[in-house]
Amino acid sequence: MHRGAVADIDLDALSHNLNVVRTLSGDRGVIAVVKADAYGHGALGVSGRLEAEGISCLAVAYTEEALTLRSGGIHSPILVLFDKTDGTEFFEYNLIPVIYDLDSAVRFSEEARRRNRPLDVHVKVDTGMGRLGLNSENVLDDILAISKMDSLNIAGLMSHFSDTCFGGDSIAGEQLRKFVALRERLLPRLKKKVLCHIANSAAVLSSSDAGLDAVRPGLMLYGYSPCGAGVHRTANLKPVMRVRTRILTIRRFRRGTPVSYGGTFVTERESLIAVLPIGYADGYGRALSNNADVLIRGKRAPVVGRVCMDLTMADVTEVEGVKEDDEVILLGSQGGAEITAHEVAAEAGTISYEVLTSLGSRSKRIFKGAAKGI
Ligand SMILES: *Cc1c(COP(=O)(O)O)cnc(C)c1O
Repeated sequence: MHRGAVADIDLDALSHNLNVVRTLSGDRGVIAVVKADAYGHGALGVSGRLEAEGISCLAVAYTEEALTLRSGGIHSPILVLFDKTDGTEFFEYNLIPVIYDLDSAVRFSEEARRRNRPLDVHVKVDTGMGRLGLNSENVLDDILAISKMDSLNIAGLMSHFSDTCFGGDSIAGEQLRKFVALRERLLPRLKKKVLCHIANSAAVLSSSDAGLDAVRPGLMLYGYSPCGAGVHRTANLKPVMRVRTRILTIRRFRRGTPVSYGGTFVTERESLIAVLPIGYADGYGRALSNNADVLIRGKRAPVVGRVCMDLTMADVTEVEGVKEDDEVILLGSQGGAEITAHEVAAEAGTISYEVLTSLGSRSKRIFKGAAKGI
């Protein structure tokens, strides 16, 4: 038996969610965020489909991720959000760096001049996230200085929200006002088109006026709202990932039998306990001990006892007809029942982003609807 879980990646659901993004953002350009192996969904498979759907641009965190996409045959423009490198790959593989400090701008400009090849860059400003981005008092002057550097072309201006739930009087509202004000002062000085973008999934889903020239969603492409289940339903997003495994074996325990490390669960009746070939090493967090459900034969079965490194137990006493090798759903639907990443996240004390990246990155992925070769 294969250890851990299988993640089914439904690329048609991805296309559906992209259409939701396009509709909600008034058909603005979409910069699709595929960092962290497309939030655990597999960056190559996901990017292949997004490219076929005519995406404007992809965004990754680090250069290495962009190179993986290029060697997998992805041709779309790729924005590299966070990396600080010497810049050579950006020219060789046609990547777009995000510039968030003046030093990097100088280095990129020198490299571009040396190669006699102008380089498109996007400049990032910090409007309140407190992470990366130009944030001096003279941010306008800093950007104008970059614009005058040899062989650099400011093709984009961006910022990032710190709120994952967007509201007009939240921090995000203030960030947006700052960003728009900067844009209005900057554009007449630059006298050219610059693609301005700030909208993450939360901003797209809130139908805020943060769309500007392009939107930059991640999570919602994978079928979830950062704001939880409510908005998720309104927007009609479809989860792209389904995670499943099979029952390794079933034990029959007498009443009063402790289950798993520390005996944190003790059977209160004669019980059927299914042992599953998945554990925290497979991304099924230990915080889910005695604290989550899985689906078997369309019924919820509670996880009992501690989640181990390679094994997890579930009480299947009430699952009629249950047998070894039955399919077990950790994330996704079966019969009429569904386990969402929101649910698992709440149980594990985390967010849907982390549930998707941890389960997805450690599961064996199967793409539904993939073009040949991916
Ligand atoms: C991750 C990320 C996004 C996407 O955010 P979501 O909440 O997943 O939509 C957009 N921009 C930047 C800079 C990011 O790091």
